[in-house]
Amino acid sequence: MADYLAHVERYPVLPSVKPGDLADSLPRCGPEHGEPMSAILEDFRRQIVPAATHWNHPGFMAYFATSASGPGILGEMLSATLNMNGMLWKTSPAVVELEQVTLDWLRRWIGLTDPLFGIIFDTASTSSMHAIAAAREMVAPEVRTEGGGAGLVLYTSEQAHSSIEKGAIAIGIGQKNVRKIPVDGEFRMRPDQLAAAIEHDRAAGLRPFCVVATVGTTSTTSIDPVDALAPIAERHGLWLHVDAAYAGVAAIAPEFQHILKGCDRADSLVVNPHKWLFTPVDLSVLYTRRPEILRHAFSLVPEYLRTAEDPRAVNYMDYGVPLGRRFRALKLWFVLRYYGREGIAQMIRNQIAWAQELARQVDADDRFERTAPAPFSTVCFRFKGSDEENQALLERVNATGEVFLSHTVLHGRFTLRLAIGNIGTTRAHVQRAWELVKANAR
Ligand code: PLP
Repeated sequence: MADYLAHVERYPVLPSVKPGDLADSLPRCGPEHGEPMSAILEDFRRQIVPAATHWNHPGFMAYFATSASGPGILGEMLSATLNMNGMLWKTSPAVVELEQVTLDWLRRWIGLTDPLFGIIFDTASTSSMHAIAAAREMVAPEVRTEGGGAGLVLYTSEQAHSSIEKGAIAIGIGQKNVRKIPVDGEFRMRPDQLAAAIEHDRAAGLRPFCVVATVGTTSTTSIDPVDALAPIAERHGLWLHVDAAYAGVAAIAPEFQHILKGCDRADSLVVNPHKWLFTPVDLSVLYTRRPEILRHAFSLVPEYLRTAEDPRAVNYMDYGVPLGRRFRALKLWFVLRYYGREGIAQMIRNQIAWAQELARQVDADDRFERTAPAPFSTVCFRFKGSDEENQALLERVNATGEVFLSHTVLHGRFTLRLAIGNIGTTRAHVQRAWELVKANAR
């Protein structure tokens, strides 16, 4: 593991395998008798690693780059070693209380001043689905027993992550009841359009119940004006959820705390340490100031899980779908302690600065154009040519094996997307990616 992390750049970021190559090379049935660990490890090196996409490679700049830092990996190993299941306080006081303490540290670091209830889920998709379920519980509590919930409507922007719509699908809201509010020229949800959509639905006898804003959208990292959206949600008695899965941690740097302006008025907020906080996948945090509503939505205690009531003994199984819960807080605790608030702020600050430098370089090169503002560590740009040329450019750059960039479509046009977030990425890696883009542009 240490050797891999020290020399990850030996590998191409993307493996050169075709679908089915690995599966076809492995036995169809598991072994009848145990095998020596040396053989298993050898096959891991020979077969598994060559089929790996190296997310821990500093040239990984696709999607949102993530990384497993050393302290995070160590925390993950220890968590597997203890192998506790934190469904109840009693089944592991350590899991429950470290989760409470660690999430409270993180809340303070990102500048949310009021106490909040925090809970760890696997992914932001799961966190947001729980937030949407809590929103429904607040507005239509009868649905828990009666089912149905006809006419409930959720509002998010046309730039929101697909997990919001999926969350609505999962809890039976129905895709046709998800309103995708138009955005302004900088891809931010328009408050006037939100207010108009809610009023229109109310007049039609529908039941608006939830607004989901995003701080750091997936395509362009745009920031919805939460401070302008919050009064609209409040006026209509709707739950406001903020998806800050990627960008929320930027607020650890004091000069970026403004990105969460208005979020203290939100009912819930998700932030993902497994995206930009150097914590191994998976770890997503859902904060809410209305834990009692989340609890009403999900608590269901069979006799065999009943324990003595004690207000300080939180049973996390009461606040969501999963019963069994891994000890995820341990790896986050290791990361927060090892780097400290200032250490993390500096890493994030550096990555944002390298992205800003790249944005300026793109602006200065008349063969390229930027397709969105770059408020964080992600830059969207395109070669001034056809979509096909941009797609081919992306493929040529990724084929070098040195970097992995991804794409999006903005205003109907194919756009390259470079996202910095890996702990091993340096300014030199970003500059090298830009060199490769320029050299491969024809
Ligand atoms: N929200 C935003 C803004 C995202 O960018 C993403 C993924 O990139 C998600 C939610 C979903 O994250 P997860 O993979 O943790 O479900």
